[in-house]
Amino acid sequence: MRIVLLGAPGSGKGTQSKLLVEKYKIHQISTGDLLRQAVATGTELGKRAKATMNAGQLVSDEIVLGIIQERLSHPDAKSGFILDGFPRNIPQAQALDAMLARMGQPLQLALLVDVDSEVLMKRLTGRRNCGSCGAIYNIYFSPPKTAGKCEKCGGVLQHRSDDNEETVRKRLTVYQQQTAPLVSYYKAQGKLRTARGVGAIGAIFKNVTDIIEAQIRPLAAVMGQIEQASAARAKAAKAAKAAKTAKPAAKPAAKPAAKKPVPKKAAPKKANKAAPKKAKKAAPKKAGKPVKKAKAKKTK
Ligand SMILES: [Zn+2]
Repeated sequence: MRIVLLGAPGSGKGTQSKLLVEKYKIHQISTGDLLRQAVATGTELGKRAKATMNAGQLVSDEIVLGIIQERLSHPDAKSGFILDGFPRNIPQAQALDAMLARMGQPLQLALLVDVDSEVLMKRLTGRRNCGSCGAIYNIYFSPPKTAGKCEKCGGVLQHRSDDNEETVRKRLTVYQQQTAPLVSYYKAQGKLRTARGVGAIGAIFKNVTDIIEAQIRPLAAVMGQIEQASAARAKAAKAAKAAKTAKPAAKPAAKPAAKKPVPKKAAPKKANKAAPKKAKKAAPKKAGKPVKKAKAKKTK
């Protein structure tokens, strides 16, 4: 299955993506990870990406798409992929569609994990991390028994500076501006499905897999049937061909026997055609010889 995952920061799409990878044995393709990998391994595209980043510029869509294409060309991507973090705008979505079409692997589903912005605000601004053991809390949804204190180790809970309300609101606004057009884009293609990203993780995942089963599995089943039917037809045609060719193969003597009469028949024809011309125009004696020979052979 080939899926693009859409969802705001804090929507929990990362968690859902991990669960999908486990359940369907497909790969999550994160452009951030791919870029870091390409730069680290020093591939051609990685070198270009590094040069761009060193110059303080954004890596171009062309490079990102090239890296994604390289990744999707790996045999292990055959079973499918989940794209997370790409595309982020319409030109990227169009370029991605064009690339996947060339590869014969069009997207099947754009899955939006939808969460109200006020819930997102609380999820992101309410996060608290234990400075000692790393345990994660949320002052709105999963608060510690004692405010500011880790239940597990008694450590002090910390509030990340980029989790403050103003920064989070900016991030969500940017996300909305980027994603809203993508939602329309995939909706127009009939590929958009929305899963409510609120409630227990297991319940959200059930919703997500129900959508996938409904959207992708029937299509996969139909495609499987079509492939099976065409394979069966090809097999039947091959068997019929084999049955025809099997007859001369069973009687090896028949082939040489069939070939011999052909030059015999052809030779007299040529001789007959050539002979009368020559005979009429010039040398009846010479022309007569092959005719006689041909006749003699025929009688034998
Ligand atoms: Zn702790």
